[in-house]
Amino acid sequence: MLCPCGSSLSFNACCQLYITQQVLAKTPELLMRSRFSAYATKNGQYIFETYGTAQRLKQSINEIQSWADECSWIALTIHHSDETTVEFSAYYIVDNTLCELREKSNFTMEQNQWRYIDGQIIVHNEIRKVNRNDLCPCNNYPTAWSVKKGKKFKHCCAK
Ligand SMILES: [Zn+2]
Ligand SMILES: [Zn+2]
Repeated sequence: MLCPCGSSLSFNACCQLYITQQVLAKTPELLMRSRFSAYATKNGQYIFETYGTAQRLKQSINEIQSWADECSWIALTIHHSDETTVEFSAYYIVDNTLCELREKSNFTMEQNQWRYIDGQIIVHNEIRKVNRNDLCPCNNYPTAWSVKKGKKFKHCCAK
């Protein structure tokens, strides 16, 4: 399986190493990518644990998990990253609607590990409705991880 983060590496050679805590994410971008991959693979626990300590207190793991479960996570595009921020777009389908979330996220180092603090939402849009017989939207994203070329949505990223 390709890594959901769009690196074009296999999942077990990329974000799975962070999600299973075999390797620490060395940069905010690597942590951000692994958090997206955790959403895509429905790993609410990892998403929860990679919030900063103060932010974790405000989070509900059940809410994170149900949000991850409800969505088909199509693709991630990284627009910019630096020492403490990452600007990205995450594309996902929920309720048969293709959506974009573009966010500039802030990260901090705690006990030698990068943690997500919060983000400024730049775009949070519904792009369009998707019918089950449409060409799967993942075909339009070069970084999509689950592409089955030419497949209808119902045979590809639909649940
Ligand atoms: Zn990855
Ligand atoms: Zn698809």
